[in-house]
Amino acid sequence: MAFSNSLLLVAQAALYFGVMITLLHWRRSIGLGVFMCALGVMHFLETYLASVFYVQLPFGIISPGSTVLFTGKLLMILLLYVKEDAATVRQPIHGLLIGNFLIVGLVMLLRNHETVELAAGRAPDIGFVDEMGLLMVWGTVLLYIDSLAIILLYERLGRWLGRHFGLRVLICGAVVLTFDQLGFFLALHWVSGAPVEALVGGWIAKMLAVLLYTLFFLIYLALFPAAEPKGGPRRFRDVFQALTYRERYEDLLRSSHLDFLTKVSHRSQFDTTAKARLAEVLEAGQVASLLIIDIDHFKRVNDTYGHQAGDEVLATVARVLRDNQRSDDHVFRYGGEEFVILSLRMGAEAAQSFADRLRRQIEEVTRDAFLEAVTVSVGIASAPVEADSIDALFEAADRRLYVAKARGRNRVVGALNEAEPVVPAD
Ligand code: GH3
Ligand code: MG
Ligand code: MG
Repeated sequence: MAFSNSLLLVAQAALYFGVMITLLHWRRSIGLGVFMCALGVMHFLETYLASVFYVQLPFGIISPGSTVLFTGKLLMILLLYVKEDAATVRQPIHGLLIGNFLIVGLVMLLRNHETVELAAGRAPDIGFVDEMGLLMVWGTVLLYIDSLAIILLYERLGRWLGRHFGLRVLICGAVVLTFDQLGFFLALHWVSGAPVEALVGGWIAKMLAVLLYTLFFLIYLALFPAAEPKGGPRRFRDVFQALTYRERYEDLLRSSHLDFLTKVSHRSQFDTTAKARLAEVLEAGQVASLLIIDIDHFKRVNDTYGHQAGDEVLATVARVLRDNQRSDDHVFRYGGEEFVILSLRMGAEAAQSFADRLRRQIEEVTRDAFLEAVTVSVGIASAPVEADSIDALFEAADRRLYVAKARGRNRVVGALNEAEPVVPAD
C-alpha cells in the first residue's frame, strides 16, 4: 500500500513537472501568462489537500498537497526566476499573495450566507472553510517569504557553486522547505492538532520531493542544453529590490520629476518650471533670485571616500536645501553636484543671507555626519534688476559662482559682495 502510495506521488510529481516545465519552456511562443495561470490555479487543490488529504508512507504520514504541489510550486517559481529575472518572477509571487488574501476575504463574506441544500447531505462544511481560511493566510505569508528566500539564497549560492544549477536548486530547495515545514506545521498543529509525526514525515517527503524535482530539472537541462539558464552573478540588493517592487519607488520619483538620489526636482524641470515661474512673478512686478550651489572639491570626496560616500554627501546636502525650502523656493539638481534654487519674491539682500545660512548649515551638518566637513560655493543673481530672463539670470549667477570658487570656495558671492577685492584662491 505504502509502495503504491509512493509510486502515485512520483507519478503526480512527474505529471506536474512535465506540464509546468513545458509551459515554461514554450513561454516565448504561447505567452508567460499560461504558465502563471496554471501555477496559480494549482494553489486551491494544494491547500485543500494539505488540509485534509493525507497518505501513509514508510516514514510517516504526508500530504500530496504539501509534498508534490507546494514543493513543486516553489521550485517552479525559482525556475521562472532562473530563466527570466526578478522583475518577472515577482508577478506570480505577488499575484499568489493577493489572490489568496482575496479568497479569504470572499470566504469571510460567503460564510454569512443562509445556504440551501441542493441535495441531501450536500451542505457546505463551514468549519472546514474556516480552518482552510486560517491555513491559507498563514500558508500564503509563508509562501511569500519562501519565494523571496529561495531566490535570494539561489543568488548567494551562485557565488560558491557558480553554474552547478542542480546543486544550487537542491540546496536552496532543501533549506527553504525545511523552514517552511516548521512554519506550516506549527499552524497545522494549532488548527487541526496534527501529530508531530506529520512534521517529520512531511519534512522527509519534502526533501525527497526536492531531490526528485531537481532530478527532473537536470533531465530537462540535459534534453534542452540550449535552455541552460543564465548564471551571471546579480547583486543581492538589486535582486531583492526588484523582487519586492522597490524600484517602483524610483520610477515613481522619476515620473514625479524628482531626482532619486536627492529628492529634489530634475534638471529637466528647470527648463520648464523655472522659466514659467520667473515669468509669472516678473509679470506681477515682483522680484526673484537664483542661487547656484556647487559642492567644493567634490571630486576629492569621491576619490578619497568612494562614490557611494559621495552619493551620501549629495543626499545630505540636498536634505539641507529641502529643509530650508519655503513654498516660494524651487530646488533643482542641475548637475552632478550642482543645485539651483529659484527663490520667488526674494530680493538680492535676502537671497544673500539665505545663501549664507545654507552654506553654514551644509558645513555643520556634513561635519557632524561625515569624517570631514563638506563646503559649498554659491553664486547669486536677482531679477529684474540684473536680468529679466531665466537664462540671463543663470548666466549672472554662474559668473559669481566662478568668482566664489576663485576667491577660495566656501563662500557666497552676490551683487552685494561681488566687488570685494579678490583674495588669491587656495
Ligand atoms: P570645485 O570645487 O571646483 O567645484 O571642484 P569639484 O571637484 O567639485 O568639481 P568638478 O565639477 O570637477 O567635480 C564634480 C564631480 O562630481 C565629478 C563627478 O565625478 C562627481 N559627481 C557628479 N555626479 C555625481 C553623483 O551623482 N554621485 C557622485 N558620487 N559623484 C558625482
Ligand atoms: Mg564642485
Ligand atoms: Mg560642478
